[in-house]
Amino acid sequence: MADDGRKRTDGTGVVVATPESIARAARRLREGELVAFPTETVYGLGADATDEDAVAAVYAAKGRPASNPLIIHVADLDATRELAPFDERAEALATAFWPGPLTLILPRAARCAIAGRACAGRDTVAVRVPDNHVALALIRVAGRPVAGPSANLSGRPSPTTARHVYESLGDAVPTILDGGSCAVGIESTILDLTGDEPLLLRPGGASVEAVEELIGPVGRPQGAGEATPTSPGRAESHYAPNLPVRLGATHADPDEALLAFGPVVPGGAAKTLNLSTAGDVVEAAVNLFDMLLRLDTPEFRRIAVMPVPETGMGRAVNDRLRRAAAPRPASRLAAAPCR
Ligand code: AMP
Ligand code: MG
Repeated sequence: MADDGRKRTDGTGVVVATPESIARAARRLREGELVAFPTETVYGLGADATDEDAVAAVYAAKGRPASNPLIIHVADLDATRELAPFDERAEALATAFWPGPLTLILPRAARCAIAGRACAGRDTVAVRVPDNHVALALIRVAGRPVAGPSANLSGRPSPTTARHVYESLGDAVPTILDGGSCAVGIESTILDLTGDEPLLLRPGGASVEAVEELIGPVGRPQGAGEATPTSPGRAESHYAPNLPVRLGATHADPDEALLAFGPVVPGGAAKTLNLSTAGDVVEAAVNLFDMLLRLDTPEFRRIAVMPVPETGMGRAVNDRLRRAAAPRPASRLAAAPCR
């Protein structure tokens, strides 16, 4: 098969990101197609955020509930001002953190061009500027804000390589731009700035302590971890591999795969991967989803995970691990294994 910039000869849709392949992908994005792209957090499933049909295709490809709104990726702060009014707090945070893994929930501007579906019909919009040159080039060349949830089936571990995207979504994504592994490896920190008190909706790649230094104390929503009106995507089970997950492991059974952390690792597991032999929580975030996916094979009964300290990036890692281990909805248990 000829390489038309969309399909590699292996038919996966994965193309190495070059100025030429990015330009082709940007054109297709403007035409309403989906394009998966790397960011510093995880791979995103991109659509022209101003195109209702393209946004609908994102929900369909992921099997994502229409009530769970999407993060809008923009090239710079100025492009964001057209979408939402920035108060002093938003201005300070965007200046300090962008490009970077901090998503701000803001009120929608009256003339906001973002498709209503991308915001799940709400009067708020979630925005960030990603810190990845392929993502930024794609957004700039397309000349559109890009709606980009993680490029995986809803509820499953997030993709941190182009290969993960193909394995989760297959042919549903005609173009997957390959920009290598994600530098942070875990999703953005989400901060809701629509009320008087800033609220942390999700711990992630940006440090909450650094946020608090700039704008003062940040609240945690009541019932975090549940699907709440302000945080519709906070369903308990998420990031879940097919295998059950056992947390706090200090030993491993012979039929378990062990996701280890730190220099001292119990023996006895069928297979062991170490998030960080040095005990570094930032390195653990980089490795988390890739290692979860690599251990998720039917030859093991369960994935046992050693404790990760609840400090710094460890909080975001533990948030994902708790959700990976949470009881799964019946519909997920019956689902066929992910490609
Ligand atoms: P993700 O699962 O990484 O796509 O994260 C998106 C999350 O950001 C959603 O689940 C919501 O919690 C939050 N979010 C996105 N857009 C909005 C919005 N317009 N209003 C409120 N929260 C939002
Ligand atoms: Mg996701």
